[in-house]
Amino acid sequence: MNLGIDGRVAIVCGASKGMGFASAKALALHRAKVLMVARDPSALEAAAKAIAAEGGVVEAYAGDVRNPDLAQLAVDRCNALWGPVDILVNNAGGPPMGSFLEHDGKAWETAIQTNLLSVVRFCKAVAPDMKSRNWGRIISITSTVAKEPSPAMVLSATTRAGVSAFSKTLAIELAQFNISVNVICPGGVLTDRLVSLLLARANREKREYQEVLQESLASIPAKRFAEPEEIADVILFLASERGGYVNGVSLSVDGALTKAYT
Ligand code: NAD
Repeated sequence: MNLGIDGRVAIVCGASKGMGFASAKALALHRAKVLMVARDPSALEAAAKAIAAEGGVVEAYAGDVRNPDLAQLAVDRCNALWGPVDILVNNAGGPPMGSFLEHDGKAWETAIQTNLLSVVRFCKAVAPDMKSRNWGRIISITSTVAKEPSPAMVLSATTRAGVSAFSKTLAIELAQFNISVNVICPGGVLTDRLVSLLLARANREKREYQEVLQESLASIPAKRFAEPEEIADVILFLASERGGYVNGVSLSVDGALTKAYT
């Protein structure tokens, strides 16, 4: 299948590792030009070098998505390097675990800035050019908790559901300009984030890490976690020419994890 993204300009947030890195790599190796955004400059540089070594055209752009100016700065950088942005992948670290009674106002503000308002700002920064050029692909990485909220993930569940609702409204408004706006809801993906969540749960529940890991695996109908590349491949399709008619969806990519009771 010809994905038709040769020479497209992309921004991928949270691109130094995990699903963001895998997405940046997949896009770059299909000949998109990718601005990679993440907080830690040295980790990001190393990630960008690894993709460039395989022939990808990428640039590292260090920044925190909580910074209200970052989205426009990143778009300006793309314009200076390659031209207007065609593809946006919204992504950042997830909020900490914890129940409603445990979190204070600061935790809510941080989660809303990192996982919801950043998405709004990046979309706002790219949408006008996408509209005037009649082409755009916006994909946000969130979580299955957008659909199946769990009490220990209240910050994540609330902000992710916000991204789904926001994305759907945007899709309806922008579809006429050949812009798609979709959300990927991963379940368990083998990344640093997954390990730290399982460790946090083991500590909270005063249990062995291995026990919590096995229990988590057993709860997934597929009986395994996803590789980051499996999420990146779905993002690649949604970012492609061929994927343009998929619009306004929050797509679970979770090995059938999202389900009703048995
Ligand atoms: P990860 O920890 O492997 O990578 C996160 C990336 O985001 C890193 O590049 C990090 O530097 C960057 N980042 C974090 N905070 C940032 C900020 N404020 N500004 C800019 N960059 C920032 O994470 P991952 O496992 O790839 O997860 C990506 C997203 O998907 C997270 O929001 C996570 O909560 C969510 N998610 C993960 C899983 C999983 O099992 N791994 C499952 C469901 C949802």
